[in-house]
Amino acid sequence: STFQELGLNEDLLKAISDLGFTEPSEVQAKAIPILLEKDKDLVALAQTGTGKTAAFGFPMLQQIDIDSRTTQGLILSPTRELCLQITNELKHYGKYYKGLNVTAIYGGASISDQARQVKRGAQIIVATPGRMKDMISRNMVDISKIQYSVLDEADEMLNMGFYEDITDILSHTPEDKSTWLFSATMPKEVSNIAKKFMFDPIEITV
Ligand code: AMP
Repeated sequence: STFQELGLNEDLLKAISDLGFTEPSEVQAKAIPILLEKDKDLVALAQTGTGKTAAFGFPMLQQIDIDSRTTQGLILSPTRELCLQITNELKHYGKYYKGLNVTAIYGGASISDQARQVKRGAQIIVATPGRMKDMISRNMVDISKIQYSVLDEADEMLNMGFYEDITDILSHTPEDKSTWLFSATMPKEVSNIAKKFMFDPIEITV
């Protein structure tokens, strides 16, 4: 298939062409059509390096309201390095979206600087669970209008002991959002999280 056939818009297709991506990866071909349908939850068994960032990033970028400064997308990821990597990728993918603000939130850096960035109006936040929970409890972020949430490398986040933080964070998001979970492995802890937070998810494996 082609990116065009997957239903991506012109701004994304231009960015994809600039990046030199010639065809969708397997996880992109499988996930993107599902995620462009409203109100679909997804569980994707996919390793790093398969192009999963774009698999959730393209549909999220295509569906957020860029003219609004409200935070609409939340991506939880296990480490600072991954947060920065995802943030950087999303900025490349969204380079033709005028006014796009993707903000990274992670521990070990100034919380007030991050709060300032969020306040400028981030449509998408990419966060590690610990710092995210901290900022919620200090009222530095508002995730009550989130439409799309991603649990990236869910198995890693659970291995690192983030279960409580994730539960706490998701309890501050609306019930009617879509949740997209990506994991390299599917231990019981991950399927439990899927059962608890997702509604009748579609499952894909790559
Ligand atoms: P990820 O699995 O999201 O970490 O992506 C791995 C790498 O593949 C990143 O450097 C992406 O920029 C790149 N990539 C993602 N999708 C494609 C594609 N369809 N064609 C070529 N490269 C891609």
